[in-house]
This record gives sequence, C-alpha cells and structure tokens, in this order.
Amino acid sequence: MPQAFISPPAPAPDDDHWMDHALRLAQQAAAVGEVPVGAVVVRDGQLLGEGCNAPIGQHDPTAHAEMQALRQAARRTGNYRLEGCTLYVTLEPCTMCSGALLQARVGRVVFGAREPKTGAAGSVLDVFALPQLNHHTQVQGGVRAHACAAVLAEFFQARRLAQRQTAQPLRQDALRTPARRFAHLPDWPWQERYIATLPTLEGLRLHYVDEGSASAPVWLLLHDAQGSGYGLRYLMAALLDAGQRVLVPDWIGFGRSDKPKKSSWHTREKHLQILRELLEFLHISPARWVAQDGAIAMLPAQPWDWCLQGAAPLGAGAQAPFPDAGHRAGVRAWQQWQAQAMQAVQEQARWHSPVPVDAASAQAQVRAAMEYLGA
Ligand SMILES: [Zn+2]
Repeated sequence: MPQAFISPPAPAPDDDHWMDHALRLAQQAAAVGEVPVGAVVVRDGQLLGEGCNAPIGQHDPTAHAEMQALRQAARRTGNYRLEGCTLYVTLEPCTMCSGALLQARVGRVVFGAREPKTGAAGSVLDVFALPQLNHHTQVQGGVRAHACAAVLAEFFQARRLAQRQTAQPLRQDALRTPARRFAHLPDWPWQERYIATLPTLEGLRLHYVDEGSASAPVWLLLHDAQGSGYGLRYLMAALLDAGQRVLVPDWIGFGRSDKPKKSSWHTREKHLQILRELLEFLHISPARWVAQDGAIAMLPAQPWDWCLQGAAPLGAGAQAPFPDAGHRAGVRAWQQWQAQAMQAVQEQARWHSPVPVDAASAQAQVRAAMEYLGA
C-alpha cells in the first residue's frame, strides 16, 4: 500500500475548500447522467481550470474530469506545463489521467475517494510512485473522502433503481426496439421514462417524457403515424424554456414504446384509453392538447388546442424505431385510419401551425400559440 494512504498529512485548509468545489462539479455530471466526478486545477489560490466527467455527452473516452480541468488550465495559462499547480479530483485518477498529470508536471494531486477497480494512484497501481516516470508530482488521497464516495454511491443506487423500474419482460406477441438504436440521436437531453403497469397496456411497455416543473401548466404533445416524440423535440425545448411542463408519450407501436407484432392489436379506443390511464397515473389533467394532424385524425373527439401540420423533423430518428418491417405493424394500422379521417382534421383544433423544425421556429410558434390560447 502506498505511503499516501497510510499517513496522510493533515490537509491544508484550502484542500477542503477546493475539494468541495470539485464535488459541486461532480453533482453537475450526475445531473446529466454521467458518472459523477469533478476536478479543479488551482495555483496560488487561483482557480485555473475545472471540469466534470463527460465521456457519454461528448462522445469522448478521454473526457474525464481531470482531463477537462487540465485542458482548461493549460489553455488559460498558455502553457502545457502546469508546474506549481494542484489538481483536486473527487475520485482517484485512472491510468490515463495519471499519465496526463505527469505530462503536465502538476505539482500536487489531491483526490477524494479511492477507486479500487481502476485507480492508478495507489489502488490498482501507483503511476506516481514510479521513480522512472515521476520526479514532480506529490499525491494525497482521502480528502473529503466520505462526501466524494457518497456522490458516487447515490448515483449508482439511483441508476440501479431506475433500471429495475424500467426492466419489463417483453410480451411474446410484441417487439422492442433495442435502446442502442436511439443512443446517438441528437437534441434529446430528457430522461427516458417507461411504464407497463397501466391496465390497458397488459404488460406492454410505454415510453414517455415528462419534463418541467410539477406545478407548471401541462402541454400534452402527441406524434403522428410517421414518427415519435423525437420529432417534437424543438417544440418540447421551446415550451420548457417558456416555463411549461411537457408530457410526450410514444404511442404503443411507435418510438421507444413496445410494438405489438400484429396490426390488429391497434384500435383507437385502446390508444385513447392508455392515454387516459397515463394521465390519471401522473395526476395530470392536461391544460393543452397538442398533436400532429395524424394523431388528431385518429382521436377526433378530443378537445384539441393546437394542430401541428406537415412532417416532423425526424432526421435519423425516422428509421431508429423500426429495425425491420415487423416493427411497423402500428404504422400500417394507423395509416389506414388516417386516410379516412384527415379531411375532418382542419376543424378540430383551435390553433394550427406547421410542426416546428428548429429551435427558432419552435420559439416563435410557442409565443404565438400561448398568446392565442391564453396560456
Ligand atoms: Zn481518468
């Protein structure tokens, strides 16, 4: 065991302060679903760089908190050597980061919790203790160790709980699009939610997004037979920016929801009943009903507030839910109904507009619709 762990020197007063700063950065990572690790680079009491773990969001295996903080500090000082600097990180560095810290000649590395599986500052190996490699960097572990470990433990506990809640065996007469087909769709920062316990679902898993303050007015957004909630993402973002709450399910047979193999599963009554049960489950009576015209054609009797006309901007999200024709039974069922019902759509809603296809058009349309609908 390396000496750093056996007799850590009493932490300098600033160590707790900067580790708390790194902890706040770790919380930011957790909030967007990244493993919560935060790091700061400090010299002479001055913050030079900071970063939190972001490999998923940045599609970058090197986007560890330490690397982000080092990059920022080196850019800010105009020097790839960071001599005299201290790097604080909430978790023991890995081999990559330890290597980078040596390359940068950081004077001192202070970490919080130990990482027994990948730690390279004493746990699995000790890069800093190799005399052939390191003449510069002192290492100290265990600063605010309990708080640093707690952030990680909470994150993994919450993730396990979420996984248990979303795990739902797939019915034999249905298909489920693999999650990886949606993994790289851009502009979709929201938490995926699933439910299979509504009575009419009979074990099928429904996907939905529910974002915004619980006390804000609710806008229920419904996609048509071509798409999924993904096509309404610009509208979702603009409504959330305007302080509203959005509820966006993928109909059964579409998007990330389960897909019955037979078109005959689909009836309008069943879809409407599932929607009612979801609203009841969430204790929501939506203030505003918004749908693409294809969905309005299917449920003409609803009190529609806003009809979205034209094709939604699906991009790569158009093909993602449908790996093969078997997944398209819902699309086929809906298209039959729609052909009959589209003529009646125009009169159904109070407000009409094209589907927003980017952020700017979404904001303009939300302003106009909120004004017209008195929201
Ligand atoms: Zn690392």
